[in-house]
This record gives sequence, structure tokens and C-alpha cells, in this order.
Amino acid sequence: MSRAAIDTEEVLDKPSPKTLQMIWKEGADWKAVNLLRRPTAVGELKPAIEVIPGLQPFEHNYYTTPAFFRHDADRGVLTNVYGQRCMRVSEDFMIAMLGALEDEVGQAGATEIMYKCGYRWGLEDMRSFCGRAQAEFQVQLEKMRVGFMLEEWWWPLTITGWGTWRYDFRQKDKGLLYVELYESAVAKSIGDIGAAVCYFYAGMFAAVFSVLSRRNLASVEMQCYSMGEDYCRFVISDYDKVDAAAFWRSQGATAKDITKKLQAM
Ligand SMILES: [Zn+2]
Repeated sequence: MSRAAIDTEEVLDKPSPKTLQMIWKEGADWKAVNLLRRPTAVGELKPAIEVIPGLQPFEHNYYTTPAFFRHDADRGVLTNVYGQRCMRVSEDFMIAMLGALEDEVGQAGATEIMYKCGYRWGLEDMRSFCGRAQAEFQVQLEKMRVGFMLEEWWWPLTITGWGTWRYDFRQKDKGLLYVELYESAVAKSIGDIGAAVCYFYAGMFAAVFSVLSRRNLASVEMQCYSMGEDYCRFVISDYDKVDAAAFWRSQGATAKDITKKLQAM
């Protein structure tokens, strides 16, 4: 199956349901798992994930820095185990990039751009994840359990420095998904400034859960390490609920208050 083209004419943070569906429906990307392939690998999709004792056809445990990154010193190129080009940057780089963005377009503009960048990042990340995960585990996405799929998606982000997470779907019947984020790369770089700063992540969570649920969702950070909290907390939901949550946060409501109000909506 060919790779779905994301229609650039679409409003950036509201892809059509067709686009979301196409990302989900993309087939296995065998090229992305070339470096993980062992000689025993046949490379075809099975009806279910098979329990294979002993050496696995595709390597799965590569979440250490030496295993995950490939450094070609002669060409000055860093790639990851999936063959994607990478760039390793310092906290100073992060601060300078965000500061420069704010200088150019102001605070409100910068937060919107970060959210939209995060959203595009999430869509592209899901697109590559869907292809490679099906190849690595030799099964269609529909055959994977949601928890398994989500951890598989997140692990590369942990090893590349984006932090660790915990998701909470206990209120999914009310259309409310929550994510706790620990060691946010953005918030850890910026430090405690008394405001939420993880707009990249909010956009990314919105895109990822839009793809997984095949409907347009938005996200807002309810509390942030940069507000002096221990960790960051996001809600992912329909636009009206997320708009309301963003408004309550701007009025000084805590994550606990916002959660309560959202449940009552
Ligand atoms: Zn944060």
C-alpha cells in the first residue's frame, strides 16, 4: 500500500477523517525494520502476534543509546535504528529556539506554532510508527492490544529524551483521556517560570489520539513542571472540552479543578 499523503490544504490541526483513516490503514513498512531483522525473519504479517521462544525474528529490545542510535562519523550523520535522521541538541538549544520563536511572533503566536508543530509531528510519527510496528511484530495494528501499541509508540520518545509517561483512560466513556508526562524535555530546559510550556507535547498527543480514535481531538496541558508542579498533565478530548479546560487554566484553576469541571460537562 502506498504511503498516504497528508493533504496540506487541510487546516493544519484538523485533518479530515479520511487522512486519519489512511494513516491507520497504511501497511507494514519492512524497510523501516531492516536493522532489526534477523536471518530467521520471514517478513510477512501473521493472523496474531506469535509467541516465539528464543531468538526473535526482529529485535525488540533496542532501547539503549548505543543500540538505538547509529553514528556515521565520516558523513557526520546520526540516524536511529529505523533509519530516520536524528539531531541531538542541548537544553541551551531548546531554550534558544523557543526564545527566538517568541521574539519573532510574540508569546501567543509562539504557543500556537508550537502546538501546530507538535500536531504535525504527531501525525508523521504515527504514520511511521504504524508502518514499522506492524513489520516489527508481523501483525496488523488491529491485532495489537492498545496498551501494548501505546508503549511501543512511546519508547523511542523516552530513549530520545522526551521523558516518560503514564496514560489514564478511566474516563474514556466521557470522552476524556489524560496523560501524565515526567521529565518533559521542554519544561526541564525552561525551568519553573510559573506557566505551562509543553505545547509541542499537547499538539502531539492531540494528533496521536486523533489517529488512534480516527476522530479529531485536541489537547491542553492542565499543569506543568514549569508551573512548579512535579510533572505535567494533559487532557485530550473534543475541541469544546479542551477549549473550556484551556479557559479554566487561564483563570488559575488547578488540574484537579479542571478535571472535576470536565467530568460535569
Ligand atoms: Zn509541561
